[in-house]
Amino acid sequence: MTTSDLVALGARYWLPVYQPRAIVLERGLGARVWDRDGRDYIDFAAGIAVTSLGHGDADLLAALTTQASRLWHASNVFYTEPPLRLAQELVEAAGFAERVFLCNSGTEANEAAIKLARKWAAAHGRAPERRTILSFHGSFHGRTLAAVTATAQPKYQQGFEPLPAGFRHAPFNDVDAVEAAFAAGDIAAVLVEPVQGEGGVVPAAPGFLQRLRQLCDAHEALLIVDEIQCGMMRTGSLFAHSHDGIAPDMMTLAKALGCGFPIGALLAGPRVAQVMQVGAHGTTFGGNPLGAAVARVALRKLAQPSIALNVARQAQALRDGLGALDAGRGLIAQVRGRGLMLGAVLDADHRGRAAALLERAAAHGVLLLQAGPDVLRLLPPLTISDEEVAEGLRRLGAALADLR
Ligand SMILES: *Cc1c(COP(=O)(O)O)cnc(C)c1O
Repeated sequence: MTTSDLVALGARYWLPVYQPRAIVLERGLGARVWDRDGRDYIDFAAGIAVTSLGHGDADLLAALTTQASRLWHASNVFYTEPPLRLAQELVEAAGFAERVFLCNSGTEANEAAIKLARKWAAAHGRAPERRTILSFHGSFHGRTLAAVTATAQPKYQQGFEPLPAGFRHAPFNDVDAVEAAFAAGDIAAVLVEPVQGEGGVVPAAPGFLQRLRQLCDAHEALLIVDEIQCGMMRTGSLFAHSHDGIAPDMMTLAKALGCGFPIGALLAGPRVAQVMQVGAHGTTFGGNPLGAAVARVALRKLAQPSIALNVARQAQALRDGLGALDAGRGLIAQVRGRGLMLGAVLDADHRGRAAALLERAAAHGVLLLQAGPDVLRLLPPLTISDEEVAEGLRRLGAALADLR
């Protein structure tokens, strides 16, 4: 089959919810991937902040194949070793947490957090109408019905009504609006991304998370950080909320947790660790030994100081490089984000052209993402090398030149 034959299969047989580029990727090494026609690409996307150790990491491969040769699945009716060890290691790495619930994706981790928050509020005698979850405009929390209701972006919700009750939204980084929301007396939990990803790569403003923590404490509400995209060292700190020195009540992880093997996790702190009791929640595949074995290695490797150093180094190289590429062109109004979670905001004359630029970038051999129509999003592997960054920037420069 040719590439275009395969692309035609997608067009014919997939539920048409995606719009992939017309390339079929076949293998990868480091921050490079190759399509089945032998063309290579610099990977500034990492499968949406997932393959943070790059492609073809030998330790991840060994963890997966060793476990695969032993046992694939047991369900949570029985113990296996990898998820037990992973839970302990996540608790020790996070500091604030006492217990872990393992699942398979980000939306499931948020779903578990939302259910836990409701159960906690119920256990504190709060009536259902006082168990509201507050989240923020521009947020993204996943596609299951509760998570998509927390996701305060109409484009993800339209047509799926009736949406579950008990969710409210406030403008991101707007302390006054959050105070006003709390004044209604119904907020049981605040769900927030320390750096908004899909919403345009927008970090929480200095002090915002701290203020949320204070408000949650003052109003007996829980603080839930969604670190599905910004966690696991993406911002240069293992968990993004620690830049702000706060301890959340819950944290959700997925994307880079398995570095490409699907796995998600909910970490629960002392106020909520015992709320869910036997039978309250569960999953067939969550905590399966394959994903857990891979995630243990991913966690150990991503937590290394050398990774944090490379994040800082390559983030600076990308910021400098984007500035140099744009000099004299003026396509990019601003580069924002934290660590290797970067958003290049297109200037007023190039609004809405992110998709076109991604197309040109792929044609020139560099894969990147968008965050809305106006923001190019760069999420390279955290192990990307100087040479790969330089080559990716060179190719991006050619794509920018096309757009003029
Ligand atoms: C990707 C993402 C999710 C959803 O994760 P899935 O694995 O796609 O369900 C939730 N929150 C954030 C911040 C994300 O980036």
